[in-house]
Amino acid sequence: MEAYFRKIEKAGGLPLLIPHLEEKLWPQLIEQFDGFLLSGGGDIASLYFNEEPLRGQGEVFPPRDRMELYIVKQAIKRNIPLLGICRGMQVINVAAGGTIYQDIYEQRKNNLQHCQGAPRNYPSHTVEISENSLLLNITGKKTIQVNSFHHQAVCETAPGLRGSAAAADGIIEAVESADLSFLLGVQWHPESLDDPASAALFSYFIKCISSNL
Ligand code: MN
Repeated sequence: MEAYFRKIEKAGGLPLLIPHLEEKLWPQLIEQFDGFLLSGGGDIASLYFNEEPLRGQGEVFPPRDRMELYIVKQAIKRNIPLLGICRGMQVINVAAGGTIYQDIYEQRKNNLQHCQGAPRNYPSHTVEISENSLLLNITGKKTIQVNSFHHQAVCETAPGLRGSAAAADGIIEAVESADLSFLLGVQWHPESLDDPASAALFSYFIKCISSNL
């Protein structure tokens, strides 16, 4: 968590950590916060995207899933800036009506290594960023190198969202919305990288929050 806090601070924001809470408190969250960063974490329980669990599904924690899915749905409805990182990108896609691979190694062929052996602050694979995308606008680069710590990934992109970056094996590495003031999900961990693209991503997120107020 430390890495997320430092990046938000550096970008000029005030990071506050939200524990999983009783359902009756959820609406207050939406009133109190100006933006949400959905962090990395464990898998999303497959029942939340209407699938039975496959063998490759990892550890899940339904209370977190339920609260985060609520936050994303409400944030989309109210145009509150949303940044999803790794699991957070998958939560955004599921909340918006898309699906994810429960385990890419069980469900698709010819995958790259997406759980890297290198330390977190080193990139391990390349992503190609789509033309005319928010992500291209933020990073200013068509190709960037990213770290990778996931075995799940976006499968069908949710209605209203588009994939805006992909790895060489076709895995979707970013999703975004053209309609909302800021909705971006990235499959990598920019909080652990010290490159200009990662700094730009957090700066842009905080800038959108500030101009939304
Ligand atoms: Mn990856």
